[in-house]
Amino acid sequence: MPISSTQAFVLGSIPLKEQDKLIHLLSIDRGILKAIAPGALKSKNRFGALLELFTEGHFFYYWNEEKELITISKGEILTSFFNLISKPENIFYFYLIAEIILKTIPYNLRDTRIFRLVRSILAAREKGTDLGLLLLYFQIWILRIEGMMFNPGICYNCFTKNIETAWVKTNFRGILCNRCKTNDKHCLTGPELKYIKWTTSNPPENPCSWISDINQKKMNRIFLKKIEYHGECSFKSKQYLPLFE
Ligand SMILES: [Zn+2]
Repeated sequence: MPISSTQAFVLGSIPLKEQDKLIHLLSIDRGILKAIAPGALKSKNRFGALLELFTEGHFFYYWNEEKELITISKGEILTSFFNLISKPENIFYFYLIAEIILKTIPYNLRDTRIFRLVRSILAAREKGTDLGLLLLYFQIWILRIEGMMFNPGICYNCFTKNIETAWVKTNFRGILCNRCKTNDKHCLTGPELKYIKWTTSNPPENPCSWISDINQKKMNRIFLKKIEYHGECSFKSKQYLPLFE
């Protein structure tokens, strides 16, 4: 069988039959890949720390007869984020990030933006950027990549531009101005609308000026609800984050 290779992040692993593991990879060129790592459960195995959550690696694999599945033959670590991810203050945020990617990004989606997004989030956290802001940045971009992010500058009912305060529609598909709102309960202020626009063309690592201007906790909740609404799912990992209590 022909061998292929790819650069990828590990998004999680679960024990499979006997001594194997089932791994989910976020590859740079083929979206999510579902992979078997043979013998990965043995105490001495050839993968070592390669299969830790969010390790960036170079993986060699072949396709199984069942087309959805690959088998990893070998790999090497390009960047290990183990020390960063395993810190108690970080781990549950990254569980949630992995879960969001796995539940919203379809298999074989060839869009390199998700891979680059994950790398930029990890790099920004290494530089000490606030985790709540990073999660918010990540959520906005996941929605944008999915084509579900609304235009923060326009009322979806009367098309008024540059609105100062907006109300997120109850079906999360767009925002309404003060005059058009009915019983919509999620409000976004002017600076919060500006922040959404800012994420379009800025990397996540220097958002410090936003900390006092936006309510990141409220925004994180709104956007997680929006992702759950569109994906018709509920994220288990959010229960470990005080942010969503
Ligand atoms: Zn309006």
